[in-house]
Amino acid sequence: MQKHDCEAHTVRKISTKKNPYHFVESGLPNVFLVGVHYSECVVCGTYTVRFKHFIGLMERLKQAVIESIEPLTPEQIRFLRKMLRKSSKDFAKLVGVSPEQVSRWMSRRSVPSKSADRLIRILAQEGTPVKSSKRTDRIVLSV
Ligand SMILES: [Zn+2]
Repeated sequence: MQKHDCEAHTVRKISTKKNPYHFVESGLPNVFLVGVHYSECVVCGTYTVRFKHFIGLMERLKQAVIESIEPLTPEQIRFLRKMLRKSSKDFAKLVGVSPEQVSRWMSRRSVPSKSADRLIRILAQEGTPVKSSKRTDRIVLSV
């Protein structure tokens, strides 16, 4: 790839229902966003996303996970743990299981009991909201 000025080849786009933005940065595999503004270099495909309400978006995602009727997946557990800003070890302590147990959930060797699943959701719901002390509203990705 020849060196070029991405800025000079940038087009602005907005994700649509037909062509939604796959929000892989969320850590969840199945999140697609409509109405995301992003700039894309037509030469190398590098794109820049600017989320206007990143914290609010993550909170809405958290709510969607908490309210889902299916058992929590490992990705969803990790997502909720991160929203709680807990290490794996502290998260295990909080839920009242061993770190090994959490590790088994993550590697799909075991699934949380119904009560553990519910407890994780309640903890996430009650959890301290994410503070906006760190700048996280701009994510730059090379693809
Ligand atoms: Zn480029």
